[in-house]
Amino acid sequence: MSDKRVLVVEDEEPIREMMRFRLGRAGYDVTEAANGADARAAIADRRPDVIVMDWMLPDISGLELTRQLKRDPATREIPIIMVTARAQEDDRVAGLEGGADDYVVKPFSFRELAARIKAVMRRAALDDDEVLVAGRLVLDPASHRVTIDGVEVALAPTEFRLLKFLMQHPDRVFSRAQLLDRVWGGNVYIEERTVDVHVRRLRQALGPHGYDKLIRTVRGAGYGFSPDRA
Ligand code: CA
Repeated sequence: MSDKRVLVVEDEEPIREMMRFRLGRAGYDVTEAANGADARAAIADRRPDVIVMDWMLPDISGLELTRQLKRDPATREIPIIMVTARAQEDDRVAGLEGGADDYVVKPFSFRELAARIKAVMRRAALDDDEVLVAGRLVLDPASHRVTIDGVEVALAPTEFRLLKFLMQHPDRVFSRAQLLDRVWGGNVYIEERTVDVHVRRLRQALGPHGYDKLIRTVRGAGYGFSPDRA
């Protein structure tokens, strides 16, 4: 039995009912919302551990609501799984760019949804102070130190936060806008090219050790961290 709370945001009642039934039976404490306004109220009332968000809602798109929740420091850490009937690649990218942590495409199997819920919650549960390691690169949030082979790499605070975020989300690609939201904080207005400047500085700091190649540029998409290049 889990005491984990799942908020299901879905306007189609049969689907919502099915999810409540199945997730409830899987041991989750399920709350339902039929639209964006109800979802906001439910989140304010009892913070969920994960949100399953339908893309098409009557009052706001699930994508826009996700974007808003991910911009708000009070809610940005709540993992969101987007449910979409659109299988197109562009929409999938838009969903992830909006800040969704994962997505499932309708019609989906309950087994698949349950596996994804488990996975995003496991990632979210990672202790924020957990030491991050990629090859000989070690980032210790508690001491605010980055070392390669035991040699300290001097990083400015922004580069440190950027590296920490990327190491916490290996093998994912983040757009510049997404990195601004997640690393800088959504309330600040900064030009997207600022991200490039800090990525360049971070690479310069890691370069002498040959670790700059771990920061991957994905043309037209953004940046990612590839620990297997260490
Ligand atoms: Ca819908």
